[in-house]
Amino acid sequence: MKYFDIHTHTPSNNGICSFFRKDSVLPTAQGYYAFGIHPWFLEDVEEQFLWLAKAVHHPRVLALGECGLDKLSKFPLELQIEVFRKCAELSEKMSLPLIIHNVRCTDHLIEIKRDLKPSVPWIIHGFRGKLALANECLRHGFYLSFGEKFQEDTLRNVPIERLLLETDESLLEIDDIYRHVAETRGVSLDELTEALEINVRKLFFK
Ligand SMILES: [Zn+2]
Repeated sequence: MKYFDIHTHTPSNNGICSFFRKDSVLPTAQGYYAFGIHPWFLEDVEEQFLWLAKAVHHPRVLALGECGLDKLSKFPLELQIEVFRKCAELSEKMSLPLIIHNVRCTDHLIEIKRDLKPSVPWIIHGFRGKLALANECLRHGFYLSFGEKFQEDTLRNVPIERLLLETDESLLEIDDIYRHVAETRGVSLDELTEALEINVRKLFFK
């Protein structure tokens, strides 16, 4: 498996490509998929749920997402929370890890997680927060996924067993992210790759 990209929007053989209903064409390439309802696109949520409930049965689906909460979205937070909770319930029902988009809504996420007590992993993707915020999320059992941009101090201190890597919309390759992260954490690329392979197998390929 080697490098694994847990969140991208470009179909790839070694990653999870995230789709929304508005993405009209599903690629037929190999690789893995996640389907979600993004807090920026909450038009027609009823139809989106119908689509999502079907989409998650795709044989190469490995996760639900990205779903989440975003203070900067034009949609009211109450609606975002309602949609996110339904997505979270579906991920639980389907035993699929949940990939989460979070912009300044960590407190709400923690509250919802406390309430739903999910057994599937909840992964905050594109984590760029400070160490204190990371620690708060880790305390509540979240996994953190890092991409092109991050706070070095935070990245260095996340326990390896809660760490994942992604490209999202970056132009970098996942290999570049792995190298950058290995350098920042002061470990060899091999050591990092082995540790993350264990995480990926545990979370997505049980
Ligand atoms: Zn994304």
